[in-house]
Amino acid sequence: MSKPIILTGDRPTGKLHLGHYVGSLKNRVALQNEDKYKMFIFLADQQALTDHAKESEKIQESIGNVALDYLSVGLDPNKSTIFIQSQIPELAELTMYYMNLVSLARLERNPTVKTEIAQKGFGESIPSGFLVYPISQAADITAFKANFVPVGTDQKPMIEQTREIVRSFNHTYSTDCLVEPQGIYPENEGAGRLPGIDGNAKMSKSLGNGIYLSDDVDTVRKKVMSMYTDPNHIRIEDPGQIKGNMVFYYLDIFGREEDKANITAMKEEYQKGGLGDVKTKRFLLEILERELAPIRERRLEYAKDMGEVFRMLEKGSQGARATAAQTLSQVKEAMGINYF
Ligand code: ATP
Ligand code: MG
Repeated sequence: MSKPIILTGDRPTGKLHLGHYVGSLKNRVALQNEDKYKMFIFLADQQALTDHAKESEKIQESIGNVALDYLSVGLDPNKSTIFIQSQIPELAELTMYYMNLVSLARLERNPTVKTEIAQKGFGESIPSGFLVYPISQAADITAFKANFVPVGTDQKPMIEQTREIVRSFNHTYSTDCLVEPQGIYPENEGAGRLPGIDGNAKMSKSLGNGIYLSDDVDTVRKKVMSMYTDPNHIRIEDPGQIKGNMVFYYLDIFGREEDKANITAMKEEYQKGGLGDVKTKRFLLEILERELAPIRERRLEYAKDMGEVFRMLEKGSQGARATAAQTLSQVKEAMGINYF
């Protein structure tokens, strides 16, 4: 039997941060190394352009950065196919066909898209490409016949939209050529949507509230020291709140089994009063650095040869294109538009 297929991607709109790491990258590396799946990982530059049309330099620059982030967390081009969305024109073509199966009202109901529209302040000028990006995501997922898509919980509505498109396509054109995917979400629920260091509901490249995998240690320290805690915990002896306190939230996510007892004790002391924020933040910095230091080191190594990084992306894109072309040809055949 052939291996189940996994597909995931990221928008090259900046470097990747801790939210990506716990929400998706960590899962991907583990799945990749299980060697039970065929994995496709891609840089969604076309999707990034849907809300960055006038900043194409930023997208271009981020392609190299995200590729470095991938390599440094342990994604491996010898085990996974890593590619760039825009280099696979078949994906745009599939999007065109799927668009006819989804109503505008359905697109406007997507809760993640709704939140993003409000955050981005589009007002009345929502780019039409932005509204349809969940359809283009369906094209990305189905082109590779992905069975599983490991993502953060903000992507649940996109997976649902994809499943609807698959059912609708297969039903409309009496075929079974498209595969219904399943989302894989982080086991630790808090990691499915890591909040920002400012306490905002989601750490996001666009919100400027992230700790990046490529941040140097001084930057990480500054960010940790500026983290949102309990605004009413002014003096060390004041009782402090755990709920909504980002330092404790992150400790719960990034602490390992052997740190648990320590974290519980700190929480108790903090709530009683007598434990200062600087101390909890220093502890968090240690815990984060345990994760970040080796990633940073590997990144510096890979960054020495960007030519090699781009050759890896080119090779991955060629391989991915061949797979997408096969699906497109089945789709056209099912629709009866394979005229010649
Ligand atoms: P942008 O602001 O440009 O949309 P982003 O930070 O939301 O950037 P994406 O490239 O849209 O990042 O997301 C890539 C993947 O990372 C998705 O699977 C998404 O669910 C996951 N992800 C992004 N942010 C978080 C977060 N804060 N917590 C958990 N997972 C996240
Ligand atoms: Mg996003």
